[in-house]
Amino acid sequence: MEDQAKLLVALQDLDLLIKEARDSDTSTELKEMGFKLDGVAKLQEARDKLAKRIDPQLLNRYERVARSYDRAIVPVTDNFCLGCFVTLPTSYQSLQNKNQILTCESCGRILYFP
Ligand SMILES: [Zn+2]
Repeated sequence: MEDQAKLLVALQDLDLLIKEARDSDTSTELKEMGFKLDGVAKLQEARDKLAKRIDPQLLNRYERVARSYDRAIVPVTDNFCLGCFVTLPTSYQSLQNKNQILTCESCGRILYFP
């Protein structure tokens, strides 16, 4: 099985790029906009391809969290959730070793261990 957390991080990167590209479109000239919309389409295509490789249940979870936060999946460093800076139970690290995708109980973001 592929590393689902890594795929999800890549998906999130694409989502943020798409968002950035869309946001900047509104303030650019028509000619430039056409070019940028083309870029958005390419990003969207890459996103769709990537999404197919992610477990549907996990993808669902990600999309739900992504409605509340720009970054739905955040790294864990020194047992801190870098989304809300809460200290995570030490058991999380060993669960991660069993290839489980964990959620921060405090903010609900999906966690990964870089
Ligand atoms: Zn958190």
